[in-house]
Amino acid sequence: MELNLEGFTPEEQKELERSVFLTTIEQVKAWARSNSMWPLSFGLACCAIEMMATGGSDYDTDRFGVFFRASPRQSDCMIVAGTVTKKMAPLVQRLYEQMAEPKWVIAMGSCATAGGPYVNSYAVVKGVDQIIPVDVYIPGCPPTPPALIYGINKLQDKIRMEAKTGRKVTGDE
Ligand code: SF4
Repeated sequence: MELNLEGFTPEEQKELERSVFLTTIEQVKAWARSNSMWPLSFGLACCAIEMMATGGSDYDTDRFGVFFRASPRQSDCMIVAGTVTKKMAPLVQRLYEQMAEPKWVIAMGSCATAGGPYVNSYAVVKGVDQIIPVDVYIPGCPPTPPALIYGINKLQDKIRMEAKTGRKVTGDE
């Protein structure tokens, strides 16, 4: 969105460019949402240890508004960290349904993404996207805290981009 500066003197144009900022309500909402992501505190397996390390003081996710919450009703982001067993899948689904809209999901690690080392097991779901929608996939076994932070940053970009373009951003963009 650009200012129409026709009819103004060059000095006025400079002043207007410095002091007027145009945006949309959708973009303001996306900016606020993307800078205050509250993931649900829960973990399924070894990847959860890396997620806990990411939330600790060394990496300090609070600095970009990421606060882990203990209730799905206070969370807008689910980080699926670990192996999704068929026994656990209905509980993951229920937690997702208890989160308020709008909400986002990060599949952390190869287990949550596609079953990981247990891909041939009868007891493991071959990717959490078979039971809930996923926005960002993070590869690795396990992904490191910087990889998780990169995934969170990608989700923030995606939220802002969707507000800007008005369409769903897919994993290829
Ligand atoms: S991806 Fe690797 S580290 Fe993560 S839960 Fe699976 S086996 Fe554990």
